[in-house]
Amino acid sequence: MEDRYHRQKLVNVMGVAWDQDRLLNSTALIAGVGALGCESAKNLALMGLKKLIIIDNDVVELSNLSRQMLFRDHDIGSPKVIAAERELKEMNPSIEVETHYESIENVPIEKFQEADIFLSSLDNFEGRRYLNSLAVSINKPFIDAGTHGFFGHVRVIIPHVTPCYECYPPKEKQRIWCSLRRREPSDLINELEQYKIKGLTTQIIEELFSRGYKTELDLKYAKLKDLISISGVTAGLVESIQEKIAPKLPAILTTNAIIAGIQSQETLKVLLGFPRTAEMYRYNGITGGFDYLNRERKENCWLCGTEDEFPQINVDSNATVFDLKVQISQRYAIPDPEIAYKEYFPLGEELRLKDVGMKSSENIYIISKHIATPKKLKLNIV
Ligand SMILES: [Zn+2]
Repeated sequence: MEDRYHRQKLVNVMGVAWDQDRLLNSTALIAGVGALGCESAKNLALMGLKKLIIIDNDVVELSNLSRQMLFRDHDIGSPKVIAAERELKEMNPSIEVETHYESIENVPIEKFQEADIFLSSLDNFEGRRYLNSLAVSINKPFIDAGTHGFFGHVRVIIPHVTPCYECYPPKEKQRIWCSLRRREPSDLINELEQYKIKGLTTQIIEELFSRGYKTELDLKYAKLKDLISISGVTAGLVESIQEKIAPKLPAILTTNAIIAGIQSQETLKVLLGFPRTAEMYRYNGITGGFDYLNRERKENCWLCGTEDEFPQINVDSNATVFDLKVQISQRYAIPDPEIAYKEYFPLGEELRLKDVGMKSSENIYIISKHIATPKKLKLNIV
């Protein structure tokens, strides 16, 4: 009898045989259907998973068509996930595709729980960071990938086994913010001036601020439709601001295909139980070289550290809740930490920790939009 998957079922290596039934019962969640996401979704659809859950809040643009192979000219202006679903179903009618035309933060956690593995094809640090925190908190393997012109990387994150994203965050992204509570509109103006962004009226800045756009990063990730509802803000203005804060990176289809190939392959290996090669692959398309990193997980990682390994927060007994927030913000590069203590009760910032009744060895919870679930940390009041 003819079998769509006949040739891949012949694979048998290092004592592990290809188990197509296992794949046919597996669900992968793909965050971002750009160049990498299109390729990885295509690979996994053709190879016969049960289901793909694809998430993307963008629409197809002309400049996507040189490398995002699930889209056609007539898709311009349509949500990427809708066009992708159509093509994937045509390539393999037996696969289920579930689409979410929204940002990952708005997708219910049950959808992530339903998946056996996450793939990130996102183009930004914040999204990866959020997905990583979710992977660690609900214990799902997470295969991250990124490219830059001829260069690319793939990371295999097995929570509590391999390093998570916070164990070795990208250096250039280890930004330190003070607590945003104390920010003023003038801080945003100064920040934008560093990007040579001028001409925003005080009124616009104050309106941005009141809507929660308090840093350049808030503007970088803002949605066009949200910003143009502000009087005096046009689509052209938003585009020029975002281009200055985060210029588009070079991208070529060939590198994306190579990196997505590795990302999909690592996904299959995790699902089927083949041995992993490395926790991180780096590719240099100019020299043609790969290198591999096999770093240890950081046992004291604030995110993936276990209960026994939690780093304590050392804090002065006269410190206020605000002081604690600043310390957390600087130590973990979390720009907007909220702190909860006992029953998730939010605390006033001016109160001193001892007035709140906090004692050494007690737990607090960090809550932030950058992490999917509250993170428990132990206090050491000195
Ligand atoms: Zn970690």
